[in-house]
Amino acid sequence: MTDRHRQRWPGQPGLTSVPSDRPQPRVVVVGGGIAGLAAATGLAERGVGVDVLERCDYLGGRVGGWSDTLADGSTVAMNRGFHAFFRQYYNLRALLRRSDPTLSALTPVDDYPLIDGEGRRDTFRGLPQTPPLNALAFALRSPTFRLRDMVRMDAKAAAPLVTVSVPQTYEALDHRDAAGFLRDIRFPDAARHLAFEVFARSFFARPDKLSAGELVTMFHIYFLGSSEGLIFDVANSNFDVALWNPLRDYLSSRGVRFHTGVEARELMLGEQVRLSSSAGEFVADGAVLATDVDGLQQVVAASPTLGDAHWREQVAGMGVAPPFVVLRLWLDRPVQADRSPFVGTGGREPLDNVSVLPRYEREAADWAARTGGSVVELHAYSVADTDDTVCTALIKRMHELYPETADANIVDQRVLRRQDCPRFAPGDFANRPTVATPDPRVKLAGDGIRVDLPVALMERAATTGWTAANQLLAGFGLAGHALYTVPNQGRSPILRRLATLGGDRR
Ligand SMILES: Cc1cc2nc3c(=O)[nH]c(=O)nc-3n(C[C@H](O)[C@H](O)[C@H](O)COP(=O)(O)OP(=O)(O)OC[C@H]3O[C@@H](n4cnc5c(N)ncnc54)[C@H](O)[C@@H]3O)c2cc1C
Repeated sequence: MTDRHRQRWPGQPGLTSVPSDRPQPRVVVVGGGIAGLAAATGLAERGVGVDVLERCDYLGGRVGGWSDTLADGSTVAMNRGFHAFFRQYYNLRALLRRSDPTLSALTPVDDYPLIDGEGRRDTFRGLPQTPPLNALAFALRSPTFRLRDMVRMDAKAAAPLVTVSVPQTYEALDHRDAAGFLRDIRFPDAARHLAFEVFARSFFARPDKLSAGELVTMFHIYFLGSSEGLIFDVANSNFDVALWNPLRDYLSSRGVRFHTGVEARELMLGEQVRLSSSAGEFVADGAVLATDVDGLQQVVAASPTLGDAHWREQVAGMGVAPPFVVLRLWLDRPVQADRSPFVGTGGREPLDNVSVLPRYEREAADWAARTGGSVVELHAYSVADTDDTVCTALIKRMHELYPETADANIVDQRVLRRQDCPRFAPGDFANRPTVATPDPRVKLAGDGIRVDLPVALMERAATTGWTAANQLLAGFGLAGHALYTVPNQGRSPILRRLATLGGDRR
């Protein structure tokens, strides 16, 4: 937290814990991903009794990790895929600090190059951290974004990039698609394919299927609105070891009861909140549904007393982004010593990024040291082809990008195909359900849930989780937790002024 302009959102005042002469309120949290764990933490720290139900056998949801056994008999770490923990993920970091105060489980990645189909390379290494100097320095040295491109851009149409504020930015831009917006502002083609498509792909969508409001807000969060920079950290062990086992221990010591491998089914709202599940019934004073989109739709469909017709329609109307494939390869020889831990790619379909795990993850480094091999992970987002076709094409791209892998034998591989990331298509924002629901005892959380703050992805999951806890705590007369975000307005008064002037000229 080095950004002096980060914004603090105080929690509501109230008692800091449940008084001993009052019955302890109980809340059932469905979903053990980031959103559910943040909600459980916010509640348990005020003395509320919490049960967490998680369908999988592990915590962390899409950032979950587990062990697997390879064909060579070795036990290896496996997870849902590479995740970047940005420095401006204040509320996620606050969660992780509960069990790791110095964030020793995270390691900085000092470069994050982007390589396009012609081999042009953009990098964020060594950029000044303060906007707009970071953007200017990036443009000055980028092979895909030249100064004359910047001059050619349509200042009026580009003004929303430097005047972001949530929800106003969504209200103004959510009906438009990201690709059309970039065309209209005359964003240079090559830079669009590289820098912006990498952003768009973080939402698992192609730019013509992504809301311009979402893209512009994201650009603010990660670049123009924050001086934490585009620097990020990665977990230095598998996610279960680095993040979730320690957090689970911390929460268990505060009385949280975890029920993994248990699926929530129907929520019944009478005098009390009753939740049926594959492990029996839970009775509580409140509930947080912190599932993915499918999970939420299933629980709501099975729970006729939940919400009103409009809200149920909103939930039913939520969508998921197209499927994605994560291919992890255990190779019998190393990749070149100077390969970056993570590279984003453009114009090399179906490849979106490559990570070299032994560069940062302890378990992969141990396996590589023991065998002389390497562990490489390839991601392909928004895929339409079969696993076989996608994996063959991914491996071909790996050979092109890292020619030393062309002769490597694949000792083993794991392919994950999933379709569980929320859709952020043009027009979705206005109907997206919020943390509050028609029943004050039931809250929603997750990266697909609307919260009117400049947050995205893992940080949206954490922020909605804390917000769900705060809203329930308010109902129990208990104090909320403060939240932090990047500034919820265009950061630079000069750029905001210039944007207005650009508008005035036309
Ligand atoms: C490959 C990949 C790479 C990514 N990279 C990044 C990145 O670099 N940076 C970033 O910020 N974000 C990234 N993300 C996005 C990030 O993973 C998500 O934003 C975040 O993990 C969402 O957390 P969540 O708690 O909202 O949902 P989830 O993690 O999906 O958690 C929901 C949980 O609810 C459980 N559940 C569902 N239904 C039920 C039920 N009926 N009963 C019990 N449990 C149920 C599910 O099993 C799941 O564990 C990436 C995602 C993927 C897939």
